[in-house]
Amino acid sequence: MILGVAIDTPLRRIFDYRVSAGQPSPPHGGRVWVPFGRRRVVGIVIEYREHTEVPAGKLRDIHACIDTEPVFDPQLLKLLLWSAEYYRHPVGEVLAAALPAALRAGAPLREELRVWRLTEAGRRQAMTQLSARATRLRSIVEYLAHRDAAPASDILQAAGASMEALHRLAARGFVEWQQPVAETASSGTVHPGPSLNDAQQAAVEHIAACLGGFSALLLQGVTGSGKTEVYMQAIAAVLARTGQALVLVPEIALTPQLVSRFRERFDLPMAVLHSGLSDGERLAAWRQAQLGQVHIVIGTRSAVFAPLPRLGLIVMDEEHDPSFKQQDGFRYSARDLAILRAQRLDIPIVLGSATPSLESLLHARRQPETLLRLPRRAAGAKPPRLSLVDLRNQPQTQGLATATVQAIDRHLRDGGQVMLFLNRRGYAPVMFCPGCGWTAQCRRCDAHLTVHGRGTQLACHHCGNRQVVAELCPLCSTMLKPVGQGTERIEETLGLMFPGVALARIDRDSIRRKGELEAVLTRINDNEVRLLVGTQMLTKGHDFPNVTLVVVLNADQGLFSTDYRASERLAQTIVQVAGRAGRAQRPGEVLIQTEYPDHPLLTKLLTGGYEAFAEGALQERERSGWPPFARIALLRAEAPTPAAAMQFLHAARDAAQAGGLLACAQDTNQSALRGLRLLGPAPAPMERRAGRFRAQLLLQAPSHGPVQKFLAGWLPILETLPASRQVRWSIDVDAQEL
Ligand code: ADP
Ligand code: ZN
Ligand code: ZN
Repeated sequence: MILGVAIDTPLRRIFDYRVSAGQPSPPHGGRVWVPFGRRRVVGIVIEYREHTEVPAGKLRDIHACIDTEPVFDPQLLKLLLWSAEYYRHPVGEVLAAALPAALRAGAPLREELRVWRLTEAGRRQAMTQLSARATRLRSIVEYLAHRDAAPASDILQAAGASMEALHRLAARGFVEWQQPVAETASSGTVHPGPSLNDAQQAAVEHIAACLGGFSALLLQGVTGSGKTEVYMQAIAAVLARTGQALVLVPEIALTPQLVSRFRERFDLPMAVLHSGLSDGERLAAWRQAQLGQVHIVIGTRSAVFAPLPRLGLIVMDEEHDPSFKQQDGFRYSARDLAILRAQRLDIPIVLGSATPSLESLLHARRQPETLLRLPRRAAGAKPPRLSLVDLRNQPQTQGLATATVQAIDRHLRDGGQVMLFLNRRGYAPVMFCPGCGWTAQCRRCDAHLTVHGRGTQLACHHCGNRQVVAELCPLCSTMLKPVGQGTERIEETLGLMFPGVALARIDRDSIRRKGELEAVLTRINDNEVRLLVGTQMLTKGHDFPNVTLVVVLNADQGLFSTDYRASERLAQTIVQVAGRAGRAQRPGEVLIQTEYPDHPLLTKLLTGGYEAFAEGALQERERSGWPPFARIALLRAEAPTPAAAMQFLHAARDAAQAGGLLACAQDTNQSALRGLRLLGPAPAPMERRAGRFRAQLLLQAPSHGPVQKFLAGWLPILETLPASRQVRWSIDVDAQEL
């Protein structure tokens, strides 16, 4: 028999192998060891066939079956195969992306549910009894001496040992294994939540009534309106029907509060999947989900592929968040795949946001019965008051207008907390020579180096390149000057303006280690810290009940971007930061500093809120033919020279022309490709990055049918173009950033 095997390589095809008669045949969706070139790799069986095109002399046998049961259930496997097709990504890489690393490397499915620990004897005698030369065994013992228990893959990786070493220690009575007990020991109760207000009650009832069938519901509620409460009570209804729930969130490290609220409410086995897990922990969580032992999985983007045999409801919190779209490799949209998964399983999905994506708003407009609204804040807090600070007519100190400083002072004296948002970390965005106009540029990118460490370091935010600052201009020896502000500098300025007021900065430079964010959040909640400066990190779902004033320092950055999505992102960010103010009893105030107070985006936001903005933005997108009224795909290329990247894209365009693909698009009788256009090629907005030149070619069509049809014909041609060998290229279907 012939097996079609998916292998984790960039080649867009599956590979044929033979199973000799008499050998056990691996299950569909199960893993096998196969020879691949000179290596031995793990593959996943996705087809059985009688025949193959591969000549008999080249056809190879599989080495061994790893699994006796599939690693993906049939539904999930179908979804993944569909995704590979839709995103035009190599199927082996797609399947690999959905598996924990340990399983990709061939770890046994069952073994990993166990955790290993030292026995009493192991703890007391192993080190004295083991020979000094048994270094691997000794490192295992050492590793385990510092912890309670650990999954085998973690131990073996840390000790550089094999499973056999672990078994040898077990045979001598130094180690033993057990099933992990942590999660299964919980009592299985769901604690009652607060009694819901009418809007929440209606939302929960609506979701509960939808259980057992597909619907994509948008839960639109201002920050603090009690969306999380709605999720939890809807999930309680699913659990009561013995279903499982999947909760997708943008970033778990930034929202420890959400996970702890779930843990407090649900005294049930629960798994949290995020990037901070070790391979062993991830595998254990994944397996518990697959076996149906956990009732709730909370996870980030890739958890959309978590195996859940009794899945009854999917919740996606902050559905507008850009992190749900993978930006490299397998460029999938977790939101779109979550909706598709719900559809195929015939279960509801709830998409929650205070600032829904235009895609979701359009869907809700077309199917009004899917829109659930929470118009008011749950705990009775008033919505914040937004106003603009016109930067054109008043003096500024390091980016802070006089009116802003006065407002900060007033709120501090009234006992409030103040939060300043600036979407730029570091000290200053530019190092400048007042003598000759020289600026510090990255050697490898078309970008300024950002000044860090109060002016002592320079770093490129695009390629990570770092260097020490010279004090004097390399051209004219004038003293260099940092220009503009980043969070570090605002922190410094506030420290000088408000001496004695405790201050905290929250950005990727100040919050590095696990636990640091929690520590700062606690100090803020205890009112120990009165002034907060931060980046995007501040906008991600934290509750700051004592904050009474929010200042948005540089809204203007996003007003004139060329990216069609920039204004949507800016409006979402402003509304999200604004929502952090006055969540408790005190009313909040929000100041937005701008040099363009008449800009329609700002005036719409101020007078009509996010909805008025979104209404205008949707009209704009419809007029100009951008998503959600159209579908796009972006062909990107990068190369050591600008010419090579452009050459490839020109060749790609020409190939479409020559292959008749574009002619079809213009021919109205060829309805399959109607309305499809290629725009470009053009250099990327930041052409040079990390020493490579980047260019792109945009594909636009009225719907995804033509895009798919076109790509199916085009990509195989691209792979054979001679110019493709000079470049790295990729296709981004439904690209979010241009
Ligand atoms: P969101 O997820 O929309 O930001 P949350 O669910 O976090 O809103 O609710 C905001 C605050 O209001 C939380 O402190 C929550 O405990 C509280 N809350 C939510 N619903 C209720 C309710 N029905 N009664 C009382 N307090 C509530
Ligand atoms: Zn100079
Ligand atoms: Zn750089």
